[in-house]
Amino acid sequence: MPEGPSIVILKEQVAAFAGQTIRRVSGNTTIEKERLANQRIEAFRSWGKHFLVELPDFSLRVHFMLFGSYRINEGKDWAVPRLSLVFDVGEINFYACSVRFIEEPLDLVYDWWADVMSEHWDPDLALRRLRSAPGMLVCDALLDQDIFAGVGNIIKNEVLFRIRVHPLSTVGALPAARLRELVREARQYSFDFYEWKKQFVLRKHWLAHTKTTCPRCLVPFHRGHLGRTNRRSFWCENCQVLYA
Ligand SMILES: [Zn+2]
Repeated sequence: MPEGPSIVILKEQVAAFAGQTIRRVSGNTTIEKERLANQRIEAFRSWGKHFLVELPDFSLRVHFMLFGSYRINEGKDWAVPRLSLVFDVGEINFYACSVRFIEEPLDLVYDWWADVMSEHWDPDLALRRLRSAPGMLVCDALLDQDIFAGVGNIIKNEVLFRIRVHPLSTVGALPAARLRELVREARQYSFDFYEWKKQFVLRKHWLAHTKTTCPRCLVPFHRGHLGRTNRRSFWCENCQVLYA
């Protein structure tokens, strides 16, 4: 599943189509895609894992879910796009994703301050939201898109490893400095992810996600599907402290 930094990279990759008019539309989506034809792209935006195509009177939201993908100026021989947008200068094809229209202005719909990749990111707001949910497990808190829009499972596992916090710790039990560190690293790791992904070296930098041995302690990692979100976690019982 593409996490927030990957959506920012997509936004950069399609920047050349901003200001262009959509000439043709196709795909197996059931939304009324014909209304996209002859629309001029006002802007490409992103909020967390949402890729947003802003048009004069409405917007298109693309969510890649678990298996979504895209191709720019090429297609896949073996797959029908969910949605294909053709411009004079190229095309964007979206696959296996969820697409829908947003009728309201995006600034009324989205809480940009919660997006870890946004220039409007507000760490104090994230802290306040965390403090209002003391019983939440940290592994769920990091995946909560109302607090950390854009953070996905890779970022979750790597952040908890970085700050040496056990995924089953509760938010309310974390010392204040640790909680601030959690918020700071959720954003910092997202930007590291962004740089590494652009250089095609993201996986090489994983220290915990999908790993079998803790690089700090050289003991086996534990793994399991934890929390309300039930997503894969990788952690070290030796160096990641359980605050509960
Ligand atoms: Zn360790």
